[in-house]
Amino acid sequence: MTATWLGIEHNDLVPIEANHQLHQDVLPDFEAMQKAALEQGINVNLVSSYRTFDKQLSIWNRKWCGELPILDMQGKPTAIDLLSDQQKMHAILTWSALPGTSRHHWGTDFDVYDRQAVLNSGISFELVDEEYRPGGPCAELADWLTHHAHQFGFFRPFETYRGGVACELWHLSHRTTAMQYEKLRSCEQLAAKLSSSQIAGKSTVLAHIESVYHRYVLNQGTSL
Ligand SMILES: [Zn+2]
Repeated sequence: MTATWLGIEHNDLVPIEANHQLHQDVLPDFEAMQKAALEQGINVNLVSSYRTFDKQLSIWNRKWCGELPILDMQGKPTAIDLLSDQQKMHAILTWSALPGTSRHHWGTDFDVYDRQAVLNSGISFELVDEEYRPGGPCAELADWLTHHAHQFGFFRPFETYRGGVACELWHLSHRTTAMQYEKLRSCEQLAAKLSSSQIAGKSTVLAHIESVYHRYVLNQGTSL
């Protein structure tokens, strides 16, 4: 199971839509939620679902070297040249998980949007907070999820910003299935996997791995 919580392998995935995969124990509840929302005129479409360690590594490395933008708390791109390696690490971690620690590795977590509402709005969708707030194309979806997602076994692990991961109204988790993976997490196993990986900024990450683990992986923020 070590390999599974770290996103290295997964034997319980099922395909959904053209390019997504979810844990087989999550799919029925996801489809039931989708159907219930649609009856209210709201679409629950996947933006992102299962993701491997290697995919997360690629996202991380491209952010570290400046190929992908690093966003500030307001979701606007930051000038990374002005940041120390440690500041850059924290800036990335606010929005992107360390490879091996993404809840997307489990097939239990996914990001959603209302594709039709976005199309109708004519905006170019960026998966940012304001799109899910009043006036945004996914505001109705976000409100519906707040009231109904729990009825289908889902919750938002990043609903409140505590100084760790930013608030992500679009990210849902299947509580009972995700709990099985949460129990497996270990800072030691993570450090071992990252040590042998090609992660950019490795020495910075490993030097701070314990605090990073509590602040962002367990998402306990800076409250400790
Ligand atoms: Zn997500």
